[in-house]
Amino acid sequence: MATKRIVLGTFSHETNVLSNIKTDLSEFRKRHLFHGDEIPPHFRGTKTAAGGLIDGCEKNSFEFIETVHASATPSGIIVEEAYEHILGAMLDGIKAAKPFDAVALHLHGAAVAEGHDDVEGDVLGEVRKLIGRKPLVASFDLHANYTEKMVREADILVGYDTYPHIDEYERAVESIDLLAKILNGKLKPTKALRQPPMLPALQAQFTGRYPMTKLLEEAHKMEQLPGVEVVTVAAGFPWSDIKEAGMSFIVVTNNDQKQADALAQELSDLAWSIRRDFLVKPMPVRDALKRVKAANEGPIVLADIGDNPGGGTPCDGTFVLKAILEMGLTGGVFGVIWDPAAAAKAARAGPGKEIEVNLGGHTDRFHGKPIRVKAHVKSVSDGQWLVKGSMGTGSLTEMGLTAILNVAGNDLIVTSLRLQPLDLELYRSQGIEPTAAKFIVVKSSVHYRASHEPVATEIIELDTPGLTSPRLAGFKFRKIRRPIFPLDFEMLGITELKRMNEE
Ligand SMILES: [Zn+2]
Repeated sequence: MATKRIVLGTFSHETNVLSNIKTDLSEFRKRHLFHGDEIPPHFRGTKTAAGGLIDGCEKNSFEFIETVHASATPSGIIVEEAYEHILGAMLDGIKAAKPFDAVALHLHGAAVAEGHDDVEGDVLGEVRKLIGRKPLVASFDLHANYTEKMVREADILVGYDTYPHIDEYERAVESIDLLAKILNGKLKPTKALRQPPMLPALQAQFTGRYPMTKLLEEAHKMEQLPGVEVVTVAAGFPWSDIKEAGMSFIVVTNNDQKQADALAQELSDLAWSIRRDFLVKPMPVRDALKRVKAANEGPIVLADIGDNPGGGTPCDGTFVLKAILEMGLTGGVFGVIWDPAAAAKAARAGPGKEIEVNLGGHTDRFHGKPIRVKAHVKSVSDGQWLVKGSMGTGSLTEMGLTAILNVAGNDLIVTSLRLQPLDLELYRSQGIEPTAAKFIVVKSSVHYRASHEPVATEIIELDTPGLTSPRLAGFKFRKIRRPIFPLDFEMLGITELKRMNEE
């Protein structure tokens, strides 16, 4: 039997349509935009989804042909030119790969482009047109907003089971294993999608605690049933603001539509029955800072959940810094503040020098104003380091020109690229030992937990304003289907309504 040839591609972006940072090709180039043979050297051996596609193929003795790998830090809508370029590169790569046996993609699931609310549905649809009935499988982020089109066009959909996403590699390998079953004639996929009217905030999507643990336990039990191939629990991403944004369940069975329908419905009903447990209540910033002041031990990790660049925010919000300076806290570390001009000014002055800068708050009106600070430049670097923790292990992180500024006794990591603090190497690569800090401020919703939980004495989610605030009712969403929980109060039980009115 001839070796099977599998065509691979990655198109990953989580689009926050409220962000004023347009996502053009330069945003992709800042992170990953590679073509064809450029791709394997960047991802082979890493515990990323792209690394998983490669290893999955090699494990199954498939030959693989790469097309395009495009991923950008979450930001605003993808401009038409970027969408056309990436899709075009994927389709051209598939055409050039003939003859081949199947296509396997890694997609995010919450991308929005100009003219394309359902980027992944449209990408899968275009690939489908090109490849006819050849198998098409795809792995997705846990924040995917699935659509009927996505489920119709792909033969198999496999979503991450974790947030923080520590299983992207495993899920990509799984998608290739399932593809192998299709190619061997052992699997005829039948699929069901169910979407309860639920739009959980990111904090409630953390898979290390209830209620997500409950849904995932049930999903994993279902995966043990005969005939069930893969069950996906997706929490969704509100700020893509498409009709289908929110929670989804997908069940893939082997030639048994009824079973797929019944199990997906069961999960959807379960989620709905515990919907009130998805409400979150972060702590007011000043209350949290008082707690830090009173604490004997550290580090206490303070999550600035309103300004999470991993959800498309600027990463230059100043609310927390302002409160810390006003309350006179010291011994803190900030991961990170995006301010290329401040980093450049620090680099020009050099380590050991004092500078004055207007720090942060440059991007929009949602994340606070710039703060005038006097800073001591501790160090300057090119901001490159390798991930050592469990999320994307082995992959290269680029922060751009980076300066460590000490402001009133706190170390601020000031970067030229936007990024979420996912790994302790972020600090150590800059000469900062995070476990020695009294407190650490992270611009992150949940991902920071994978690396910070093991060293934190306490984690506090701060009620900060910003484009990833869990106060979803405060956003002007235009396209999300209504009514949906918890945006529409009539969907809350009487008790919750009373409680929320009292608060
Ligand atoms: Zn995600």
